[in-house]
Amino acid sequence: MGINRTVEQIAHMIPGSTLIGNSVEINGVSTDSRENLQGKLFIPIKGEKFDAHQFLPQAIENGAAAILCSKSYEDVPTNVPVVLVEDTLEGLQQLAKSYLKEWNGKVVGITGSNGKTSTKDILTSILSAKYKVHKTQGNYNNHIGLPLTVLSMDEDTEVAVLEMGMSNFGEIELLTKIANPDAAIITNIGESHMMELGSRAGIAKAKLEIAEGLKENGTLLINGDEPLLIEGVKDISFKGTIETFGFNQSNNLYPTTFELTENGSTFEVNKIENKTFTLSVLGKHNISNTLAAIGVAMKFGLTSAEIEKGLENLQLTKMRMELLKAPNGVTLINDAYNASPTSMKAAIDLVSDLKGFARKFVVFGDMLELGDQEVAFHEEIGSEVASKGIDYLYTYGELASNGAAVAKKAMSESRVKSYQDKEKLIQDLLQTAKENDLIVVKASRGMKLEEVVNAILEK
Ligand code: ATP
Ligand code: MG
Repeated sequence: MGINRTVEQIAHMIPGSTLIGNSVEINGVSTDSRENLQGKLFIPIKGEKFDAHQFLPQAIENGAAAILCSKSYEDVPTNVPVVLVEDTLEGLQQLAKSYLKEWNGKVVGITGSNGKTSTKDILTSILSAKYKVHKTQGNYNNHIGLPLTVLSMDEDTEVAVLEMGMSNFGEIELLTKIANPDAAIITNIGESHMMELGSRAGIAKAKLEIAEGLKENGTLLINGDEPLLIEGVKDISFKGTIETFGFNQSNNLYPTTFELTENGSTFEVNKIENKTFTLSVLGKHNISNTLAAIGVAMKFGLTSAEIEKGLENLQLTKMRMELLKAPNGVTLINDAYNASPTSMKAAIDLVSDLKGFARKFVVFGDMLELGDQEVAFHEEIGSEVASKGIDYLYTYGELASNGAAVAKKAMSESRVKSYQDKEKLIQDLLQTAKENDLIVVKASRGMKLEEVVNAILEK
């Protein structure tokens, strides 16, 4: 599945390339020589550790119909058609760019510190009420993943929803210039990648690069509750439409009323009359993500009835704020997929907002890659927990223990516990948490806190 062209056409789509051998038809591309490559164009990428050109024989054995190959590689295969390029990564990116250019659909680019995948899933769900939509799978959101996402799209797709991730300046610029979006969303500005970008203003600037590849008559949707985006957007050269979304009533799109429930939320939107939307994913932040998605849907001509219908079909990718009932009567929010200060606060807000529970627990593990202010960020979470009426705080990891230390100053000491041993944490939690209690579990991916969730669910 995906791109369907002859090798000759592929060579034309990559300026500066040369075709060696016969032109056969290819259906899809792959960078993994271990896959079944029947009918596919294999693209070897040079990584940090090794150069995938060494796997060309394996790729051909696995059925590759043709190969994209670097000119400097001395062992160019002779038994399959080959498209020779200066650099295979650039070739892949150029091919994706040309493929989108030849196609008639619309592209949406989504970036932001948190909420990219959630917004992508929400938007895809909405747009699917009217269009055939192709979206980024998993986290295929970088300089390799994005072009692969594009090339795995069938030609009859009507909208491509592309997640764009980054950790440094210039990365979003590269992605948006490949994608050339009709609409772009910046979900929020957090604190991830502070190390590379220096400050939150730096992060905002890096995200705003998304406008550099936007179509001239395209739309940029930014989170207007973030002052750094409102300020930063003044400095960009983009001449198309700029719209804001968020909770402040100064935004172009905001909820006129909203209510958070145990299953998600209901809300009304200023620009859509007489409609109450029901959202089946948790947290106030997801209302914000949905507003961005509604903004794009309205630009793309969906009616309010279609938006409503699309939202009804929503299923978010697993491990992001799942509400689960354990056999012992405890309610769990599994948000162990990842964490940053902003998303951690969103999770604490959610637990604090939810009504009808006996006691509330936050299980908070280390947030990684935060740079030299990492201790301060963890301390901030500690004071956040203490100020939001949370009953128990259990921290896991060295960094998170700084949060526990701060929380102890404001909460009863017996209700704040700090662990380096995950098993011990699980045992204590199982003893303390009872029926009708609510527990949120959240940390960076590397902390593997889903083990805590699984242990409770198995009890
Ligand atoms: P990644 O960089 O890992 O790809 P992402 O940007 O795709 O992350 P999601 O996977 O959608 O983000 O969400 C990750 C977590 O961030 C969610 O579980 C939630 O806690 C939080 N989150 C989602 N949306 C927002 C938002 N708009 N503001 C703050 N936090 C959010
Ligand atoms: Mg993501």
